[in-house]
Amino acid sequence: MKLTNEIVIQKAKSIGFDLVGFAKAEKLASEVENLEDWLKLGYQSGMSYMERNIDKRKDVSQILPDAKSIISLTLNYYTHHQYSNNKNKGKVSRYAWGKDYHLIIREMLKNLEEELCDIDPKFSCKSYVDTGPMMDKVWAVKSGIGWMGKHSNIINRDYGSWFFIANIITNAEFDYADQIPDFCGSCTACIDACPTDAIVSDYVVDSNKCISYLTIENKEDMPQELSDKFDGWLFGCDICQDVCPWNIKFSEPSFVQDFHPKNENIEIDLNEIDKMDNEEFKERFSGSPISRTKLKGLKRNAKFLRER
Ligand code: SF4
Ligand code: SF4
Repeated sequence: MKLTNEIVIQKAKSIGFDLVGFAKAEKLASEVENLEDWLKLGYQSGMSYMERNIDKRKDVSQILPDAKSIISLTLNYYTHHQYSNNKNKGKVSRYAWGKDYHLIIREMLKNLEEELCDIDPKFSCKSYVDTGPMMDKVWAVKSGIGWMGKHSNIINRDYGSWFFIANIITNAEFDYADQIPDFCGSCTACIDACPTDAIVSDYVVDSNKCISYLTIENKEDMPQELSDKFDGWLFGCDICQDVCPWNIKFSEPSFVQDFHPKNENIEIDLNEIDKMDNEEFKERFSGSPISRTKLKGLKRNAKFLRER
């Protein structure tokens, strides 16, 4: 049976995805130019992988030769928990409170792909969740999921921006969505609130100054000139999303229990990190996004916060 938008939406939602959008698999021109400009300015900092596979980022048929469409999917991870702002603890970005989303979403994608293949045996695809040479956010915009906010995250009018994005490149054809207009308007709340001025212009984030990058992906020492600007963030930073009016008005708790805080990972005692050994780190953060920094990175972040 030929797949339709309705069939895919019904199957994706029955598996647990919140939003589903469809975009034609066209070449990306202006979007790749923007990426190249961003790279030329060095805003990727240590994320050199962003410089690779530009051809694939530009043209998804370099990944799946008979690509016709992109199916964009989202999964809400918001939960209502709050920080205590205890100075002896370091805050963790809300996406990392529970289980690693890659593990959850990969499984959901596998189930969805199998169901779609059962319906249409000619269905072929390649899926990504946040990794791989795909411009996830661009496709989420093109498929009508939402618009890119000035903080560079995707915003949906019903969910705000607390969601993960997955994309499926496929040889199936669908009806394609109109893009959602940009509803940021004259708001500049995220730009004004960013403590390190990392949002250097609308929609452009300089990773060299972004606490989220510096505490997670960064392998180097912390920039001393930002030492009094981290506002207690140990792993990631949510300030620009916390102040966004679309999140303040529309965030609803996720149905995914695995995204609710695990092992009190909302904020972590800095003394505990100082004393932690590899064994304890593995035991506490196995299956959590926090494991990405390794113990060395988490200790560096904790030390940086203590010295402020
Ligand atoms: S994550 Fe934090 S540091 Fe990065 S742009 Fe947003 S507010 Fe600024
Ligand atoms: S805080 Fe304002 S400018 Fe920033 S993303 Fe949200 S709506 Fe857009």
